[in-house]
Amino acid sequence: MGPIESSEVICPYCGETIEHLLDPGGGEIQEYVEDCEVCCRPWSVRVRYDPETGLDVRVERADE
Ligand SMILES: [Zn+2]
Repeated sequence: MGPIESSEVICPYCGETIEHLLDPGGGEIQEYVEDCEVCCRPWSVRVRYDPETGLDVRVERADE
C-alpha cells in the first residue's frame, strides 16, 4: 500500500485547477470517468505511472 498521491488537473470545461486524488494501488494504467467537483461535468481521466518519468495524468471531456 503506497501513499495516496494527488495531481493538479485543469478541468477541460470550466478551466478550474483542481487537486485530484489518485490511487496508486489501482494499477500502472488507469482510465475512468469522474465528474468535475466544480462544474459536475464528466471527465475522462487517464493515469499512467512511469517508473522513470513519474505520474502522467490527462483529463479530457468524456461527453464527446
Ligand atoms: Zn469543471
